[in-house]
Amino acid sequence: MSTATDVRPVPFLIGGEWIKDTSSHITHVNPATGEVNYQVCAGTESDIDAAVKSAHEAARKPAWRNMLPHVRAQILNKIADLMLERSDLLARSQMLENGKVWKECKNQVINGAATFRYCAAAIETLGSEITPPRGNYLAMTVYEPWGVVAAITPWNSPITLTCNKIAAALAAGNGIVLKPASYTPTSGIELGRIALDAGVPPGVFNVVPGAGSKIGDALVSHPLVRMVSFTGGTEVGRRISEMAGRKIIPAVLELGGKSPHIIFADADLNAAADAATVAIFEGTGQSCTAGSRLFVERKVYDQVISMIMERARALRVDLPDAPGAQLGPSASFSQRDFIEKMVDGARKEGAEILIGGLRPTDPRLAKGAFYMPTIVAGITNKSNIAQQEIFGPVLCAMPFDNEDDLMQQANDISYGLASGIWTADYKRAWRVARALDAGMVWINTYKQFSTASPFGGFKDSGLGREKGLQGIRTYQQVKTMFWSMSDTFDGGFSIAK
Ligand code: NAD
Repeated sequence: MSTATDVRPVPFLIGGEWIKDTSSHITHVNPATGEVNYQVCAGTESDIDAAVKSAHEAARKPAWRNMLPHVRAQILNKIADLMLERSDLLARSQMLENGKVWKECKNQVINGAATFRYCAAAIETLGSEITPPRGNYLAMTVYEPWGVVAAITPWNSPITLTCNKIAAALAAGNGIVLKPASYTPTSGIELGRIALDAGVPPGVFNVVPGAGSKIGDALVSHPLVRMVSFTGGTEVGRRISEMAGRKIIPAVLELGGKSPHIIFADADLNAAADAATVAIFEGTGQSCTAGSRLFVERKVYDQVISMIMERARALRVDLPDAPGAQLGPSASFSQRDFIEKMVDGARKEGAEILIGGLRPTDPRLAKGAFYMPTIVAGITNKSNIAQQEIFGPVLCAMPFDNEDDLMQQANDISYGLASGIWTADYKRAWRVARALDAGMVWINTYKQFSTASPFGGFKDSGLGREKGLQGIRTYQQVKTMFWSMSDTFDGGFSIAK
């Protein structure tokens, strides 16, 4: 696999200008090969200050604030066009940085462009509301941008997750400072270039890479930041939520998960085994919605587990740009080491490693952060490996006896992001779906997503929703107006309403 070693560090974007001369850099290592990809300029607290001020100024200017919705929609559609034109560049930057296989990276670009088109259509058609009056007046509800939105993204699917935030925040008329994860900065930077080329006024969309521990607090606590949109781990999300709470600004939090994937004996077991394999191993398990806790009804447990083992053994672990590769490396060596530590810990505690539990033996993969698809059994839902998010290709398999036993286990976790149910009994599907603590339930399917459907979690998996019409409203604040139709003042407490 070729890498793009570039002697000049990749610059970042503030106020429509490319910032090249920085004192510190992020050295980017390809997780598939261990080779250095390139260096990226890293922002400081003063860059954050400049980016927020620039977003604030640009978002207040009439050229952006008063832009008519159909004109804003044209710009969003242009961004989608440019994303598709530059899809190879965008996909390649993600593949080099987090090791996701080529096909998945390309599809993320296509889906990201679709998100911009959806937001374009939505903002052109979403109206204000006239609400029922209780007097001689007209009551209206209008939706306005927050001002400056701080968008903070993780490394697992930067293209998808950045598009979810940026498309909706631009549609809603905000200014934005994006802080991508240090492992995956360049797709966000390229999106900044595309936005400029598509006609987003300079300063509206700024991108400042850097370690969250160094510049994250400066961004979230900046007085001009009026909303935070964060996707990442639960502990960082909690910290951001605390900071946002002190400022009394909203924080949309898309956090971690440890999702139950449930197979009843009456399900189509072939389809369920196919889905259970994809649900955990796609993206090398680095998916917040991964079906990482598998619950199988005891009478078909052995049969279903052998079916999944057979499918997992056939998966192709390879370099991300190898034709037919299905699993690439973990996004970083530290992440691979964490996965290894978790599986080794479970093994020491008596878990049975049915397949995997080791690095690949193929010498071509020896320098990368690879780990084989792993199925862990002989554990309870209370065990550490079943309770902690691993974010790797590790499936925790557990049997259940009946619906009560299942519900006890499935909801016994701090997370509540996604879930899946396989059964031929529609009444049971309804009962279980309603009883699960999860923001998303897939019934006889798994990992279906739509840009038109709200996405988000219950419990420690987050707060608020992105995507869909609700996702655009997330980036707007509500203003209510009362317009008198009387010639004299007829309001106040003395009038019964
Ligand atoms: P992370 O929480 O370590 O980092 C996420 C982002 O936050 C990065 O950009 C990081 O630099 C930044 N950050 C770190 N400390 C900060 C601080 N003090 N202030 C502001 N920003 C700070 O998460 P990660 O390891 O990059 O990503 C993996 C996690 O993301 C997993 O838990 C996964 O489940 C979650 N995730 C959730 C969703 C979802 O939609 N629910 C989607 C993808 C990933």
